Amino acid sequence: MLELPRNDRFFDAKTPLQLLMTFPENDLDPGETHEAAGELLAHLQRVGIRFIPQPKAESVESWKSRWIQDAASSESPPPVAAASSPQPSPQASAGGSSIGPEVKTPPRAPEGRLQPVESFSASDDPYPGTSLPIAERENQLTNLASVVAGCTKCTLLAKCRTQTVFGEGNPAARFAFFGEAPGADEDRLGRPFIGKAGQLLDKMVQACKLQREDIYLLNTVKCRPPENRNPEPTELANCREYFEQQLQILRPEYIVCLGAVSAHSLLKTKLSIGRLRQRFHQYHESKVLVIYHPAYLLRNPDAKKAAWADLQMLMRDAGLA
Ligand code: URA
Ligand code: SF4
Repeated sequence: MLELPRNDRFFDAKTPLQLLMTFPENDLDPGETHEAAGELLAHLQRVGIRFIPQPKAESVESWKSRWIQDAASSESPPPVAAASSPQPSPQASAGGSSIGPEVKTPPRAPEGRLQPVESFSASDDPYPGTSLPIAERENQLTNLASVVAGCTKCTLLAKCRTQTVFGEGNPAARFAFFGEAPGADEDRLGRPFIGKAGQLLDKMVQACKLQREDIYLLNTVKCRPPENRNPEPTELANCREYFEQQLQILRPEYIVCLGAVSAHSLLKTKLSIGRLRQRFHQYHESKVLVIYHPAYLLRNPDAKKAAWADLQMLMRDAGLA
């Protein structure tokens, strides 16, 4: 038995299954396949399935070769129904729920790729207040940083942190890069994105013909979550007012959300990155682009292609390409 990981992400019943059923013939990048799998697991869990039978390695191999052969020798979609949607054993559905009807009935002509959703407009009204002169922005950011430095709204995070990581960068930046939370290096030095992921981010920024000095970097939460776990919903809610104020002072033309945590928090959606990438969303007057987090790209280098396509889209829109 394979125990399913806990995952409460958004699930749109058909598409992830369709996507997985086209594997390995689909042209998805690994990030999208990974997300589709995550969404499917989340769905199985929601309907009460916590265990699925774990096939023997030999069966997987024979299934794979059979499938590839079938796919190669036939114009119609391969006979994936039985193989690709493992039916839970009776004990697997101990919760009493069954797999939903959408899972039992595989679509006849699976689509090849996650379709990005229509643009999100998280807050389409203008930023409150007026655009400030640069010196005044610096002033206000410094004041806010000292408020944040003394914040203890999240008891656990305030106790565990070495220091807060407010964010830093050019107060006149056209581009704000919005990350998740400080890691160990950031917590030690009080600066955002200075660890391994930060080094990759620097390269990504440079590939866009920008330097770190041209941009502003901030995170959804200003204190490091223990063991680098994701911030909890209450922590995100507690810290929200700080990033909202930062963005209101900066009014960047573009906000690049790095990873799902920041995208979900800013856009108030649970959709996966696969759905949110490749289009501009809106937060007040800022255009929002969602890309894979550099830490994810370090673990999944094949997804760099997708991240680069997203950054090229940003460059074209911003007149940098
Ligand atoms: N990852 C983030 O999301 N933010 C940082 O500041 C560092 C790593
Ligand atoms: Fe305060 Fe944000 Fe740190 Fe929570 S994460 S204690 S809200 S600064």
